[in-house]
Amino acid sequence: MPESVEEFYARVLAATDEHGRLPILDNQMPGWDIFPYETDTLRLKPLQPLLDREPDRKGEDPAECSCQHGLPSSRDERVIWSNDRWSLLALEGGIPIVALLMPHAHHDLADLPRDLAAELGQLTVAIAAAVEALPSVGRCHVARYGDGGAHFHLFFFGRPARAGQFRGSTLVDWEENLPRLPLDVAAANATFVAETIATAYGGAVTPVASA
Ligand SMILES: [Zn+2]
Ligand SMILES: [Zn+2]
Repeated sequence: MPESVEEFYARVLAATDEHGRLPILDNQMPGWDIFPYETDTLRLKPLQPLLDREPDRKGEDPAECSCQHGLPSSRDERVIWSNDRWSLLALEGGIPIVALLMPHAHHDLADLPRDLAAELGQLTVAIAAAVEALPSVGRCHVARYGDGGAHFHLFFFGRPARAGQFRGSTLVDWEENLPRLPLDVAAANATFVAETIATAYGGAVTPVASA
């Protein structure tokens, strides 16, 4: 029988100090050269107790999800590519591209129907290839968190080429602190990615207004 979360949590809590803080583990990622922070002055926030239950996310009730009114759902997102079932949205950011893939129908990852799940695999490959074809990108990072919104959304991050410090999962920590991309640069990158996907996979490019 897999352990309960209370058992998991009790073990973590047992590793905290008298202030409820876990130590920084230098033999784990904090000791890697790509870790963005200097560890001598770094400390973790005290561990908080478990929540009573998983909090509701945006769109947890499908009737109230923004997909009822069509994508995009916020002003800093814009659709750059779509087909009948999926849209790819570009977000503002400090790296060459941050894009979000979302199905038009209301699903989360764990309840995607098989046909959409199969297309997700093919689209993931096509989008990653298009992002990696950008001259300023060294690798496409792919992530699903799902803790904020119930409507499935998969992130694609274009990690700047030859930026050795930005490799790995802490790219997103760096990204939050990089200057925002100029609008014309973001538009040119988004258009290039959308056109590359349309050529390789199909679907339609959404014209992007540059500034
Ligand atoms: Zn939805
Ligand atoms: Zn999210």
